[in-house]
Amino acid sequence: MKDRLKRLYQLQEIDKQLDELESLRGDLPGTVSALEAEMEGQVYSIEEKKKKIEQDKAQKEENESEMIRILDEQKKFRAQLVSVRNNKEYDAMTKQIDRCSEDIQRFEKENAAITDAITSNETDVTESLPRIETKRAELEEKKSHLLEIIQANEVEEQKLRTERAELQKHITPQDFSLYNRIRTAKKGLAVVTIDRDACTGCHNVVPAQRQLEIRRNNRVFNCEYCGRILVSAEISGLAPTEE
Ligand SMILES: [Zn+2]
Repeated sequence: MKDRLKRLYQLQEIDKQLDELESLRGDLPGTVSALEAEMEGQVYSIEEKKKKIEQDKAQKEENESEMIRILDEQKKFRAQLVSVRNNKEYDAMTKQIDRCSEDIQRFEKENAAITDAITSNETDVTESLPRIETKRAELEEKKSHLLEIIQANEVEEQKLRTERAELQKHITPQDFSLYNRIRTAKKGLAVVTIDRDACTGCHNVVPAQRQLEIRRNNRVFNCEYCGRILVSAEISGLAPTEE
C-alpha cells in the first residue's frame, strides 16, 4: 500500500515538473497559431483583391473595345444621314445615332466606376503589404522563440516522459484513472501533503484523527474539502522502493 501511495505521489511530482516546462512556453503556442490564422486571412484577402483588379481591368478593356465599335457604327450612321430619302428615314437614323451616344455614355460611366474600384483595391493591396510583412516578422520571431524554449527543454521533457511511462506501468489502471480524474478537476494537483495541519491543496484543516490515519499509509484518503489524495510526510519524503 505504501508503494501505491508513493507512486501516485511520484507521478504527481513528475507531472508538476512537466507542467512547469509547459508553462515556460506560456501562451506562445496560442499566439503563434493566432498570428498564423491572421496572416492567412490577410494573404487570402490580398489575393482576392488582386484577382478582382485583374477582372476589372479585363472588363474595362472589353468595354473600351465595345465603345470603339459603337463609335465606328455611329460614324457610319452619320455618313448615311446625308443620303436619306425622307423624314421617316432621317428620324430612324437619328434615333440610331442617339442610341449609340447613350450606349457610349453608359460604358463611360461603367468604366469610371471600375477605375475607382481598381484604384481603391490597388491602394488596399499596397497598404496591406507592409502590414503583412510586419506580421510575418512578428510571427517568425515568436516561432523561433517557441522553438528555442522547446529545444532547451527537450532533453528534460523526454527524460520526465520516460520516467512517467515507466512509473505508470506500476500503477493500477484504477489508481491512474482516479489520479487523472482529480488532476483534471483540480487544475493539475491530485496528490497533496499536509502542512501545519492543513491540506496543501485547499488549505483546509485536516482533523487530527484523519491525520493519524493518513500517517498509517494503508489506504487512499481524499481531502474532505477538495477531494485531492492526501499523503503523509513519509510518503512525500521517501523515494519509492523498487519492486
Ligand atoms: Zn484539500
